[in-house]
Amino acid sequence: MVQTDPAPSRTGAPEPSRPDAVPDPDPVPGEGAGLAVRDVVVRYGGHGTGGARTDPGTTAVAGVTLDVPPGEVLALLGPSGCGKSSLLRAVAGLEPVASGAVAWDGRDLAGVPVHRRGFGLMFQEGQLFPHRDVAGNVAYGIAGLPRAARDARVTELLDVVGLAGYGRRAVATLSGGERQRVALARSLAPRPRLLLLDEPLSALDRGLRERLALDLREALRATGTTAVFVTHDHDEAFTVADRVAVMDAGRLLQVASPEDLWRAPASRRVAEFLGYQAFVPAELSAAGRSLDRRGADNSAYDGSDELLAIGPRGLRVVGTSGASDAQGGSASSGAGTWVATVVGSVFRRGAAEITVDVVLPGADPGSPARLVALAGTGGSGGADEGPEPGARVHVAPDPAGCAVVRG
Ligand code: ADP
Repeated sequence: MVQTDPAPSRTGAPEPSRPDAVPDPDPVPGEGAGLAVRDVVVRYGGHGTGGARTDPGTTAVAGVTLDVPPGEVLALLGPSGCGKSSLLRAVAGLEPVASGAVAWDGRDLAGVPVHRRGFGLMFQEGQLFPHRDVAGNVAYGIAGLPRAARDARVTELLDVVGLAGYGRRAVATLSGGERQRVALARSLAPRPRLLLLDEPLSALDRGLRERLALDLREALRATGTTAVFVTHDHDEAFTVADRVAVMDAGRLLQVASPEDLWRAPASRRVAEFLGYQAFVPAELSAAGRSLDRRGADNSAYDGSDELLAIGPRGLRVVGTSGASDAQGGSASSGAGTWVATVVGSVFRRGAAEITVDVVLPGADPGSPARLVALAGTGGSGGADEGPEPGARVHVAPDPAGCAVVRG
């Protein structure tokens, strides 16, 4: 893309504030260095172009406020249709904001066209120029540089994305993953002050995506690039980003580091989206009663609708169930374990994952939940080999794989 602004420092550190004699005519509340998004609303339709007004339209982004300081990589994570791309496009200037503001370094970008924002864009399909070779594609946005500087920058970027020596290759000979690497190098070449990536890996198959997510993170770190990265895949968001903003139905639910988000989801909805598999009233579970309340803003809260959220690796088989256990799979013992019926087991990632049917405390005894439990904790009566289908076992939440959330 064409860059019209001078290239900022790529050290990753906040840039020194520029001396500015002209007062900002339209200061944005809470502005700081980097990107500031304030109460942004994006709507589609509803204006009845060229004819009568039709319907109120779709509100794709319903009032989002967000900051991305220089050098940070922020993932926008949420289910399909929740408004991630619309927000990204509004930041880019590709979509008008119905209300609210987008600012960079405290300057409102309203009225600043896409090509004058100094932002880079990268999409799911890299949209390479087929008639240019790899180097020609990477050099696209830096045509104004002297030749030697341009060539040096192309060489540097191909190295950053793991394609050293690929400059003369025709893009038609590249694999899907290589194409996206070229697209990344091209979007980084002009040193955008902000790089906006819209599902850049989602057209690739799973294994390649995992690899490229790691490489993408490295490339963004190595170049000190400030970036907003849209994805519906939480593993990908956690791999690439410094902070993750979880979106649902046009709103932000939580913004936190991957670790904090995982350990303290702000709500059941966030936890569900991260892959937590079941929820139990916290006071009905020993683990739920003992777990720290790690949520950030729980101080004025009485705990009455707290839930123990059981993560994908948050349930353990702690023993086989004896003949004295109640029949029907609904009994829970006083020791904080629940009786479960084994449905099947598979060995994955170094552990037996046992699918069980279990009636959770507080749930309808007629509708057991089907959950995955890891085998064995080193406790008595372990089931490390994976018990047979139909076997009755005791399961218990493992606090290390659980969190307490609000209902
Ligand atoms: P996501 O990126 O999270 O999948 P989008 O931002 O693409 O979500 O879409 C959010 C909502 O806005 C969806 O309901 C979608 O159908 C709607 N939408 C997106 N683009 C348009 C458009 N150009 N015209 C009308 N509705 C749109």
